[in-house]
Amino acid sequence: MNTTERDAAYVAHTYNRFPVQLVRGAGAVAYDEQGKRYIDLGAGIAVNTFGFCDPVWADAVAKQAHTLQHTSNLYYTEPCTRLAEKLCCATGMKKVFFSNSGAEANECAIKVARRFAYEKYGDESHATVITLKNSFHGRTITTLAATGQDVFHTWFGPFTPGFVYADPDHPEELHTLAEQHGCCAIMLEIVQGEGGVRTLSPEFLEAVHRVASVFGLLIIVDEVQTGNGRTGTLFAYMQTPLRPDIVTTAKGLAGGLPLGATLLGPRVEQILIPGSHGSTFGGNPVAAAGALSILDRLTGTLLADVRRKSEYIRTQLEGAPGVGEISGLGLMLGVLPLRRTAAEIAAGCLGRGVLVLTAKDRIRLLPPLNIDDRLLKEAITVLKGELAQ
Ligand SMILES: *Cc1c(COP(=O)(O)O)cnc(C)c1O
Repeated sequence: MNTTERDAAYVAHTYNRFPVQLVRGAGAVAYDEQGKRYIDLGAGIAVNTFGFCDPVWADAVAKQAHTLQHTSNLYYTEPCTRLAEKLCCATGMKKVFFSNSGAEANECAIKVARRFAYEKYGDESHATVITLKNSFHGRTITTLAATGQDVFHTWFGPFTPGFVYADPDHPEELHTLAEQHGCCAIMLEIVQGEGGVRTLSPEFLEAVHRVASVFGLLIIVDEVQTGNGRTGTLFAYMQTPLRPDIVTTAKGLAGGLPLGATLLGPRVEQILIPGSHGSTFGGNPVAAAGALSILDRLTGTLLADVRRKSEYIRTQLEGAPGVGEISGLGLMLGVLPLRRTAAEIAAGCLGRGVLVLTAKDRIRLLPPLNIDDRLLKEAITVLKGELAQ
């Protein structure tokens, strides 16, 4: 059997994969089993922050793998403490809980919010978390419940109760929603990634700020996709007036290794006590070493370069034939195709050696942050050609 056949025979069929098998990569370039070259504008869904097998990252990871790969959380290890310190110093948050994925980072945030509410009100009367329509927060039963899209709410019920959904297009409704339910938190993505790369409006963020102050709600920002330099700042909330109480991140944090982080601000830093939460692999030394090497390189210069490349893509595509709205921030961009579906354009790009993603009706671009200018130009030219057809 070849890989495609073995996949069909043995791997649970949860993904509609592109018809290509990638075997190796370097930076923003990957190769399939026939040696065909692809320029990667997807970065493993915003995971490979510095592309495939970045040498600095690979060295940091390999060095840690040869030193101490895992101990359990019953012992101290240096990489995880240094990473927590770095995340706190960069954000002003106070404590970090480490897990292995975005869904788990969000589960932790929801647990913290619930316990915060319990301690404040003495019971479960204020356990409800407001999330947004069109959001995406993960695939566990609770994070599916948090996800404000009906398509995710069939087949797997009963779901965790205690979520209500605010419409980001109607900021004026937020106050009523918070009034009608006993709420403890509001959870949002600054740019809704899976929801079609939609950036929340300043009016909605303003309403979040106002309603959160009135009702004493925690603000939870899900930066699983938008975090770690992706939008041109370390975290996307840094471009908004929001001052979150909890920030979750994962995807690009460890540059290609599984790592989730839940950052806790001053209002909630004491909520988690021994025994209240845990993760076998969370804060694993190898993943933490990878993350340290990534965060070290997210300098002001690099972030300015992310914004410059973002502008380049926008100016190339804005008003080009077959191109509708362009949305998103930094190197997290959505492009609405006008002549064919996003899936058709992604397939066309693949044939011409460019990997792009889709989100709802849009092409989604999430290139490695350090993609070379020449490669970016080559890939955008291909995409432009496909959009024009
Ligand atoms: C991908 C994603 C998640 C889920 O992350 P996993 O690592 O797949 O569990 C949660 N929230 C957002 C915003 C995401 O983009």
